[in-house]
Amino acid sequence: MAKLINGNKISGDIKNEIKEEVKELERVKGIKPGLGVILVGEDPASKVYVANKQKGCDEVGFLSDTVKLPETATEAEVLKQIEIYNSRKDIHGFLVQLPLPRQIDKTKVLEAISPLKDVDGFHPINIGKLFAQQDGFVPATPAGIIEMMKREKITIKGKNATMVGHSEIVGKPCALLLLNEWATVTVCHIETRDLKMHTINADILISAVGKPYLIKEDMVKDGAVVIDAGINRITVDKANPELLSWRKSDFDTKGATLIGDVDFQKVEQKASVITPVPGGVGLMTIAMLLKNTLKAAKDFAQLK
Ligand code: NAD
Repeated sequence: MAKLINGNKISGDIKNEIKEEVKELERVKGIKPGLGVILVGEDPASKVYVANKQKGCDEVGFLSDTVKLPETATEAEVLKQIEIYNSRKDIHGFLVQLPLPRQIDKTKVLEAISPLKDVDGFHPINIGKLFAQQDGFVPATPAGIIEMMKREKITIKGKNATMVGHSEIVGKPCALLLLNEWATVTVCHIETRDLKMHTINADILISAVGKPYLIKEDMVKDGAVVIDAGINRITVDKANPELLSWRKSDFDTKGATLIGDVDFQKVEQKASVITPVPGGVGLMTIAMLLKNTLKAAKDFAQLK
């Protein structure tokens, strides 16, 4: 049976460390880190993420500021708000919650954010810094995946690592981080012909796709480290009998449950270490976003 990585404990530890640093920063420099969020439209998932970001800020003692723009907002209105955050001294980092409504060009928006305040790490300058192994902002979810492994004392150097998923938000930056840690990295995506061929030899297997049961037991090497970043909401009408009984209390109370990309109950019998969903990678994202914001505030205070 695999050891479970406890995302709740690790993210809690990170938040406690941040809290201590915030006190110190306030004491020494009189600075309280500030995180700004621009939310455009009414996407329900985005609203939940933004609320969680605000809650995270409160937990660690940051200033949090949210600007809500209507679904019909123009690109110029979003760019104007970015300019305001770029110049505000009390906001050290900010992000524009994705996805954006159609009329707004995501690339233009991301490029307008000052790279020094780009705590999501999506600005091309920060992407380049990750590529070149320079100090910059790394996207929170992949940074959280690596942080989890480091805190669990999992060796990355010299290992075969397979990243399933190649998005700009998770897969690609995670593959680069693994490479920067000296893993031998394989990246798979929707056009990969034979996924199993690439996963079966992975000492470290990471999935960030958004497809339930994509990673099955016969695709996993004995003793592998399995990190599941996928988040899939399964409603009671779509659940198979096994899931209905495993997550009975979720279905009874909420009519739905969250699972990852990995067939967890079978794969946990083969892996040496595994992350659960929920309670794994998902919890790391906000902790790492807060860590990035603390870094932005420390850089601002020239207190590296
Ligand atoms: P995305 O849709 O942008 O990317 C999905 C990736 O999966 C693509 O690279 C695609 O090529 C690949 N893919 C699709 N089908 C595949 C298949 N059959 N075999 C191999 N690869 C396949 O999604 P994303 O934003 O990267 O998110 C991926 C998952 O991670 C989602 O479930 C999302 O909810 C989750 N996620 C979690 C967090 C978090 O834990 N906080 C953060 C971001 C995303």
